[in-house]
Amino acid sequence: MIADPEKLEYYRNDLNVDLPPLIRDLMLKSLPDLILQPTTEEHLPEIFTFAREHKIPLTVRGAGTWGYGGAVPTRGGILIDLGLMDKIEVNPDALELTVGPGARFLDIHRELERHGLTLLSMTSGKGGTLIGWMATGGMGFGTFCHGPVRKQLISIRVITPEGKIQDLKAEDPEITNFLSTEGQMGIIVKATLKVGQRPTQWFPFLLPFEKSSAAYDFAKQLSHHSSLKPHDLIIYHTELTRILKAQSNGKISVEDKNLLLVAFADHEQARQFKTYLDENRIQAADEESAHTLWEERFLPMSIKQLGPSLLATEVILPLDQVASYFEKISEWGKRLGATFYPSSHLINQEQVLFLAMITSDHRKIIFYIDLMLVPMMVRLAVQFYHGKPYGLGIWNTPFLRDLYSKKELKELAQYKKKVDPAGILGRSPQSRKVLWCFRKTGSSSKNTFSSRLI
Ligand SMILES: Cc1cc2nc3c(=O)[nH]c(=O)nc-3n(C[C@H](O)[C@H](O)[C@H](O)COP(=O)(O)OP(=O)(O)OC[C@H]3O[C@@H](n4cnc5c(N)ncnc54)[C@H](O)[C@@H]3O)c2cc1C
Repeated sequence: MIADPEKLEYYRNDLNVDLPPLIRDLMLKSLPDLILQPTTEEHLPEIFTFAREHKIPLTVRGAGTWGYGGAVPTRGGILIDLGLMDKIEVNPDALELTVGPGARFLDIHRELERHGLTLLSMTSGKGGTLIGWMATGGMGFGTFCHGPVRKQLISIRVITPEGKIQDLKAEDPEITNFLSTEGQMGIIVKATLKVGQRPTQWFPFLLPFEKSSAAYDFAKQLSHHSSLKPHDLIIYHTELTRILKAQSNGKISVEDKNLLLVAFADHEQARQFKTYLDENRIQAADEESAHTLWEERFLPMSIKQLGPSLLATEVILPLDQVASYFEKISEWGKRLGATFYPSSHLINQEQVLFLAMITSDHRKIIFYIDLMLVPMMVRLAVQFYHGKPYGLGIWNTPFLRDLYSKKELKELAQYKKKVDPAGILGRSPQSRKVLWCFRKTGSSSKNTFSSRLI
């Protein structure tokens, strides 16, 4: 249990976004009253009973790395820090992994490595928990080849605010209520997933393109190839290339261009790809640059040091819309003096997960302008580029209706009432109303900019 005011302060932010005082103190109550750190799942029904009886709001936190503030309280109360429930069990014969909600990618990775195994897909943020990732978006490296984390899932165990313990198999439709719903329906206390053999070698290629549209066109063409099946296809826009180069101690020596990183886990595929590049007269960058970028693929967020704060907009966009979407937000950036550092992961043959990071300073007024850009960019993607928000957290709560259909929302609301009739877990309806102003920000900003930019 933590009640020391100084330590409570630490929990009013997540590790990647510092909420400015106007939001965290006036619009929300982000300071928890108490932190509880359960060590076994038996503790959770007791916490739920106590919270129900005393009508205390609860917020769930894994490692607090997400960046959308989902693990930050919006109405005080008890914050449940799951960090100590960090069990990791590997069954190498069955190629299965079972983890607790506090198990972080870094430790999971290390444990799997000992058995010559690997996760089939994972986020690029190794400090986060695997279960927290399932509770948010579940897409990242490996998604192009193996699908989102849901595809690798065998089962989960959840405890709902009513105190009910449920074991759900991947094919059980009820499981949907707990994946990507960000700790609003219950706590996932255990997950079992399929894992794979660790490739003996990776074969990364780095392809520079002057224009981002050319990089996306080539990625699309490659993703539809009948026999070439890359593990990952990632595009780093020129602005991010510059930063990655500067941080690589000379190991990435490509020109400042848009980079397409294509990685194969198979030697024969890599050989065929070289032939394909020759046939298309495409010159790949040097091998050291490609290997460095691939081996350090967990590096991009180190741009936070340019901040000191980092904001991020993450949206799912159709592949053929990304380049023009990027042109529009770049125009906005120029007008407002903000620089975006975008990258895209292909998540299938038609869509990308587009992440644009913005460096800012939460101690200065400019932070509020930068902050406005986040919903503006999501609104732009949703309204004009057939995009969808990726995750909600605090910032994207107003885009709930753009993420789910009316029918889905109704079903989720009914399920929430069933499992949490006292409304103790997660963000309250009141905080959603407060945050609705962000939706207005999104649409009014569109009006402000529309005459000239859209
Ligand atoms: C460098 C970097 C790169 C990243 N790249 C990606 C990426 O490519 N793709 C991607 O999807 N994400 C990415 N992320 C985000 C991050 O990896 C995941 O969101 C993260 O794994 C979530 O784990 P967490 O423990 O930090 O979650 P937290 O921030 O603690 O929580 C996130 C949300 O999940 C809920 N939650 C946490 N644990 C549980 C639980 N056991 N049961 C129910 N709800 C729970 C919380 O209430 C909150 O709403 C990146 C982050 C960083 C820092």
